Amino acid sequence: MASKKKVALNDYDLTTTLGTGSFGRVRLARNKKTGEYFAMKILKKADIIKLKQVDHVGLKGFSQDQRYLYFLMDYIPGGELFTYLRTEGKLSSEHAQFYASQVCLMFEYLHSKNIIYRDLKPENILIDEEGYLKLTDFGFAKYCETRTYTLCGTPEYLAPEVLLNKGHGKPVDWWTLGILTYEMIAGIDPFNDDDPMAIYQKILKGKIKFPRDFDKNAKSLVKHLLVADVTKRYGCLKNGANDIKNHRWFKNLDWYKLSQRKVPAPYIPQISKAGDTSNFSEYPDSDTMSPEVSKKDDPFLDW
Ligand code: AMP
Repeated sequence: MASKKKVALNDYDLTTTLGTGSFGRVRLARNKKTGEYFAMKILKKADIIKLKQVDHVGLKGFSQDQRYLYFLMDYIPGGELFTYLRTEGKLSSEHAQFYASQVCLMFEYLHSKNIIYRDLKPENILIDEEGYLKLTDFGFAKYCETRTYTLCGTPEYLAPEVLLNKGHGKPVDWWTLGILTYEMIAGIDPFNDDDPMAIYQKILKGKIKFPRDFDKNAKSLVKHLLVADVTKRYGCLKNGANDIKNHRWFKNLDWYKLSQRKVPAPYIPQISKAGDTSNFSEYPDSDTMSPEVSKKDDPFLDW
């Protein structure tokens, strides 16, 4: 983690909302002295205490006032994978492979530290200026050597063992990699439905329909990931993430090069200038967020 320090809130102009997560709002922040751009995550203290949220990563600095905690982070200007996927509809198998392989490395790393992420979805994946991925929102991440029981995650991405409340651990992350891979290639998630109850039923039934043009190697990997039985799910067997990395969908991928960010990215976001937010969806600010109000002591009331 980069060095973090207490920052003076007055040194930053807080502008466009980049997004909202499970526990707060993230705004583009401009350092008034250097002109550098960052992302500032703003969390209401009362919510954090209520929800026992303590984990956050990638901090550049932090601050607080009476009601809020502020986390200064690098600004990732390429926007959410969610927005990109909605624009593209779906991705080619090669393109999806580039993203899925990075998520595989992220999980391999987090799990080696006994951290389960538990909330993979395209909204939580950001694209950096070189077209590589960054994971955001560690609101549900948990240090866990064995199993945990809290129900969390997003309906479409919930693993069967989470739904059945059987206790879950690292395998949930590999399940969500299967969902993400399917969604990137098919353009829609495998158990989609307007009604969350129907989604849950489909997940538990476990029947996956693949579009006819779905790459057959990718399909094979997805089928090894979306396995209800965690003792058979790829990523959770004795070879761990290697079963995924050695799968034939990845046979042309140089994993070392990927880890060194040397594999050319299939898509580089257009960034016209520092602090460009055009890759983010427009986010309606609440009425109380006008610049005049934001200069007052308690700038983020009622968002
Ligand atoms: P989070 O609470 O971490 O889920 O963040 C909510 C949303 O804010 C994300 O889905 C992104 O759209 C945006 N966001 C979070 N962190 C950053 C960052 N470092 N740079 C740019 N946008 C971010």
